[in-house]
Amino acid sequence: MSAKTYIEPQTTIPVYDECDVLVVGGGAAGHSAAIAAARAGCRNVILMERYGYCGGDVTGGYVLLIPNLSFHEKTYVRGIQEEWYTRLKKVPGGVFGPGPEEAGNYDPLLVNAWNTAGGATFVPPRMVCHGFMLEPNQLKIEMDLMLKEEANSIRVMYHSWGCRPIMDGDTCKGVIFESKEGRKAVLAKVVIDATGDADICRLSGAPTSSAIDDECRCGTTALVYRIGGFSYKAYETWRKQNPELSKSLNENIQKIHGFRQGIFATPDENVAWANNWHVKRDCSKIVDQTYTEMQTRTTLREVVDFYKKAVPEVFRNAYIYDIAPQLGTRGSHRIVGEYIIDSNDWIFPKQHDDVIAWHCTVNTLNDNAPIEIPYRSIVPQKVNNILAPGRHISADRIAIDNVNLIPQCVGTGQAAGVAAAVAVADGATTRTVNIKKVQDILAGEQDVPLPRNSHTDPGYQECLEKYEYGLYTENAKKAIEAADAAGTYRHWTISKGMGTGEN
Ligand SMILES: Cc1cc2nc3c(=O)[nH]c(=O)nc-3n(C[C@H](O)[C@H](O)[C@H](O)COP(=O)(O)OP(=O)(O)OC[C@H]3O[C@@H](n4cnc5c(N)ncnc54)[C@H](O)[C@@H]3O)c2cc1C
Repeated sequence: MSAKTYIEPQTTIPVYDECDVLVVGGGAAGHSAAIAAARAGCRNVILMERYGYCGGDVTGGYVLLIPNLSFHEKTYVRGIQEEWYTRLKKVPGGVFGPGPEEAGNYDPLLVNAWNTAGGATFVPPRMVCHGFMLEPNQLKIEMDLMLKEEANSIRVMYHSWGCRPIMDGDTCKGVIFESKEGRKAVLAKVVIDATGDADICRLSGAPTSSAIDDECRCGTTALVYRIGGFSYKAYETWRKQNPELSKSLNENIQKIHGFRQGIFATPDENVAWANNWHVKRDCSKIVDQTYTEMQTRTTLREVVDFYKKAVPEVFRNAYIYDIAPQLGTRGSHRIVGEYIIDSNDWIFPKQHDDVIAWHCTVNTLNDNAPIEIPYRSIVPQKVNNILAPGRHISADRIAIDNVNLIPQCVGTGQAAGVAAAVAVADGATTRTVNIKKVQDILAGEQDVPLPRNSHTDPGYQECLEKYEYGLYTENAKKAIEAADAAGTYRHWTISKGMGTGEN
């Protein structure tokens, strides 16, 4: 980058609109925040999104897998996340995966059957869990429909890129944005930064961090694509019958692409999801963004040709079905919040008075059990009236790998929306908001089970106790012993957790 600088002249910016709650970014977190704020009674919400649709990584980046919503027989992640499932289930080809009623089954046959569809835990103990693969374009439509259902409360501003917060001391009063109409401002009582890369928080004076461990998924970018014209079941059968050849196929694909790629089932039996990992790339840097896009596309024809040539009995008629319209962004800048999630949140069953969501993790350290996400982890330090749910939540360089998952983003987004609505209604700030009231709305009216809340079926807590989560499970004991032996804290949290990189 050039060392030269240019001083932008001072200018007067027109105010485009004013609202109570402004959500910047319409991904899993931002869309949920806007919907939840409206449902909690806020009649003046604006959702601002730089692209022309909602869903972010999920619909635009083709992240089709919603994993581990349940722990044994109980579905701990519900609310708007469960609503995606129930709405898409009514749409032909909308979802593929076991429903909540199938959760908790240890039958190896069923675990095997759901293995690649998000319907079984990836790591031991292996069991069927409520989870699913979704059709991204159908979710885009459902997300628009959900916004239209709240049209009396939510105004949507697509193609509007939030640039910087309007700060009055440490208090946020709105956001300046760019669009085809030029540079304008939206004033707001509460701003929810759901940009995924802390775009608004970073310029607000709040501390942020971009440290990510090299071995973590969050240090990788992707450009996801789909391959059509073959039977995924036939591929699975071939793969299991030919483990050595399958390994060699993957190695060859990796060599051609120059990065690791894996194909997975989708709701359409004849279409596969090609997820990929460009290591040591930062999704907030122009050079890495450009590299990821171009390197994936320019090697893709050769990759598909290789599949056809190497395994014609499966891939003879394979073709590039489509390429995700936007870059896959796993992690970059995050807020440094009033609480920083770290690996101890998995090892110990931490209880938080300000819990706003259960997040069902994919981690052997706690046998895939749900952890409690506190409100403080979406409250940036130092500033007032900004909340930051989603993949830029406050978590350390390793823990972020476990908490950037979609269910967490939907859950914290939903909670942020309710908290913002309650703060505005009560004339409070994001720091003084009545958290008990927020929890009661979430658990009572918005279908979000919460620990120790009178609106939540006590069976949830009993299920955790029955399976001994929190009493140092066998897997946690082994992991800690391994850590002691290896002498590294870092190693065991990665190698026993999501750092295996399979999503
Ligand atoms: C390839 C890949 C595979 C993954 N695999 C899985 C998986 O299998 N399961 C899982 O649960 N999770 C997975 N993840 C992680 C998960 O998809 C994301 O962490 C999650 O979807 C992030 O949601 P979000 O709403 O926080 O952020 P995003 O989805 O990034 O949404 C941010 C939104 O804000 C918009 N935006 C950004 N900046 C601005 C701005 N300045 N102004 C206006 N709008 C803005 C964006 O366009 C976007 O719509 C994967 C991620 C990737 C990339």
